[in-house]
Amino acid sequence: MNSPSAAVRHRGCQLIVSPTARSGFAVGTEGARKGWLYDFFVNEPQVAPDLMALAVQLGAVRLVTYEHPLLEVFFAQFGFHTRVRVELAQLRDPPSEWSGDAARPDSELSSPDFLCMVRSEGEPMRAESMQSDGKDVMSRPGTEIQKENCGACGQALPELRWRAILKGYQCQQCGYLDVNGLLTLAPWDAPSKSPLTRLFNSGQKRSDANLFSSETDLLMQH
Ligand SMILES: [Zn+2]
Repeated sequence: MNSPSAAVRHRGCQLIVSPTARSGFAVGTEGARKGWLYDFFVNEPQVAPDLMALAVQLGAVRLVTYEHPLLEVFFAQFGFHTRVRVELAQLRDPPSEWSGDAARPDSELSSPDFLCMVRSEGEPMRAESMQSDGKDVMSRPGTEIQKENCGACGQALPELRWRAILKGYQCQQCGYLDVNGLLTLAPWDAPSKSPLTRLFNSGQKRSDANLFSSETDLLMQH
């Protein structure tokens, strides 16, 4: 399994870490990575919204997240709209971390789907444009519910835990949404176009034309 050093993994990115070092993200600033929000992780309550606001200030306009309505609504609050939903089988050589806890040997869960979201100013996302499955969200595989209190208004509410990926809630009383976990995924660059690669690719059948091969590719029409 390849896990590149942080310097390589976050080449062309600005790194932000919270004062406790329990949360942070990388936002691409150069080349094909510019504007992508990578490796957004949050392991403390009521930090995600402020960190996300900072990411937007620093230029985050594109991201890939796991298919879950709590995540889709969280990013929608910051102007992000889902452009495409894909499953793991549609991706050619994605980073190994993308399959999340499904990559663990003891996991009985298959890989979740992915949403590629793009920010557009001033245009709120409509409920009918959501591409995550909102139905039966409390009973989807790998979900547990715990009692929690809203971090904003104190209201007692159910907190949802989903796999090793995500926990969070949206308060019915005040609307506050908090999420913890792995909120966006690792960089997935286009394969390098060495002469050798081109030679190999020219001999390939086009049966894989519907596969995506980088995060940038997710935003192209197929
Ligand atoms: Zn509340």
